[in-house]
Amino acid sequence: MGAGNPVRWGIRDQFDSNVARQYPTKVAFRRFWKFVLPYRKLLAFAALGNFLTVFINQSIPLITKFLIDEALPARNVTLVVGVAVVFLFATIVQNVTAYGHDYLLFYSGQRAVFDIRKTLFHHLQLLHMAFYERERTASLVNRLIHDVASIQQFITTAFGTIANSALGLCFAVTVMFFLNWKLTLLCLATLPLYFLITQSFRKRIYRMSHDVKERQSALAGALGETFSGIKVVKSFGQEDHERRRFILTIKDNFYPEMDLQVVGRRMWAWLHFLCNTLYACVLVLGGMAVVKQGMSLGAFVAFTAYLWGLFGPIQTFSALIQVTINARTGFERILTLLDTRPEIVEAPNPIVLTLKGRIEFERVNFSYGGETPAIENFSLDVQPGEVIALVGPSGSGKSTLMSLLTRFRDVSSGCLRVDGVDLRKLDYDSYRRQISVVLQDNFLFSGSIEENIRYGKPEASVQEIREAARLANALEFIEQMPEGFRSRVGQGGVMLSGGQRQRVAIARAILKNPKILIFDEATSALDTQSEQLIQRSLDILMQGKTVFIIAHRLSTIQKAHRIVVMQRGRIVEIGNHEELLERKGLYSRLYHPRILEPEAGTRAA
Ligand code: ADP
Repeated sequence: MGAGNPVRWGIRDQFDSNVARQYPTKVAFRRFWKFVLPYRKLLAFAALGNFLTVFINQSIPLITKFLIDEALPARNVTLVVGVAVVFLFATIVQNVTAYGHDYLLFYSGQRAVFDIRKTLFHHLQLLHMAFYERERTASLVNRLIHDVASIQQFITTAFGTIANSALGLCFAVTVMFFLNWKLTLLCLATLPLYFLITQSFRKRIYRMSHDVKERQSALAGALGETFSGIKVVKSFGQEDHERRRFILTIKDNFYPEMDLQVVGRRMWAWLHFLCNTLYACVLVLGGMAVVKQGMSLGAFVAFTAYLWGLFGPIQTFSALIQVTINARTGFERILTLLDTRPEIVEAPNPIVLTLKGRIEFERVNFSYGGETPAIENFSLDVQPGEVIALVGPSGSGKSTLMSLLTRFRDVSSGCLRVDGVDLRKLDYDSYRRQISVVLQDNFLFSGSIEENIRYGKPEASVQEIREAARLANALEFIEQMPEGFRSRVGQGGVMLSGGQRQRVAIARAILKNPKILIFDEATSALDTQSEQLIQRSLDILMQGKTVFIIAHRLSTIQKAHRIVVMQRGRIVEIGNHEELLERKGLYSRLYHPRILEPEAGTRAA
């Protein structure tokens, strides 16, 4: 990878999968071929169309030869008109075959790209949270759009042109052989030179193309990050700062991108020079052959025309090298993603359970890879229907514990059992259908409110959605909106207030009706009325479920059957509110000075 100035925007190496693997040509081709194979029949028809087009194209100089050598010397006007008619007919047929060929290629290319996007998206969905925490989302979008598009460009343009040029080249050489075999041998003798020139550039272009793609992907990732953090940028008045950083990065990308194009152009210039030198030689030697050895003028003219039939493909190949390498590096970036294995793997014969809701943590340890574990020797037995409040200072492991329960991550050691079965043995999908998470800041999709609630149960009727909204205390505000349930919520739900977003998320969870519920209580300031509304809707949601609440409010904590106090990944205290207060440990210290205030709704932000 080329050296770069690693400003924050441009840092690439820390994102593992942003740096694509380089695959051996055979492997890359074999895997690419798998995507193209289903369309082989269409491609075969395209090839037939191509053959006819090239055949007609290449016959045109022969028609000219006939005109010069036969029709004109004979002063036969009918023959001249006949030649013109044949020419016209040939070009019409050529047009039709070329159109058919292009259409079939566009279609097969588009279909192959459709399949690649589908496969990649499906695979990305299987990858787990750890992957998404490492990756920047915009960089993934970049792969799905731009890297795939470079393959599309290859199939629809290069694929056709390569076949076209190769056929044209064969045809031109064959006819040239018949016209003057000595001159043809001379031309063919220069072919290794073309090969040497392109080979010497190819490796550099390949390396540079990978580098440029990584830079573009990192740039997309950083841009995405800035736009999703635009509130922070604006609230800190950092627009200028971000602009300067952005300019620094695009400056950093300027020369690598420029160099890539210049190198391609330089290769083309060398090839062009070689072609022109050869052309000059042919003019001299061919001219001498006409003068001294009786080569016909028509044959000489046709020969020089076919010589361009030889140069054309050579120059096209050189231009295509860039398109091909661009597609290959794009494809390798896609393969790198496709070869990223999910960190959480499903058991061979996963167990499908209808949950009752018992959860046992048995000496669970979990580490993110650092020296200190995030969860250490954690044991807890939770009965169905029990409400557990998790309390503890920030960084004590509450969210990590919940990501073990949702199986975003697997325990490092120990065991986490649900209804007596090791979580790792359960069918992942059916388990997730029975567990719901309501977060502090719930993400809503940019559709309507109805679509967002329906996300909890796609087959739900309108009535069920209304009922869920009513139970979540969301019906009133939804009905006051101009378009009711059809109102759009904006990207991430920005058009709703924090409290409204949360109630929509609760409605979504109510509709899903899970057996296990995880609720990350809001610490952000909600007005008292919103808090009470959310509290009431939560009470409804919690009925009959095993509930974990990352709790901040005393009202919630008091409602819990048990309070688990965590510190540095361990349970330090466990009990109900009064017991814990009496113990005068961490809980009572947390409770008295600040976080937990006596009454719900009276808490400051
Ligand atoms: P809490 O939810 O109690 O605030 P967390 O579970 O978020 O605590 O964090 C527990 C510990 O794990 C902290 O030391 C935190 O820095 C670390 N941690 C949390 N998430 C990650 C992550 N994705 N990668 C690495 N370390 C993490």
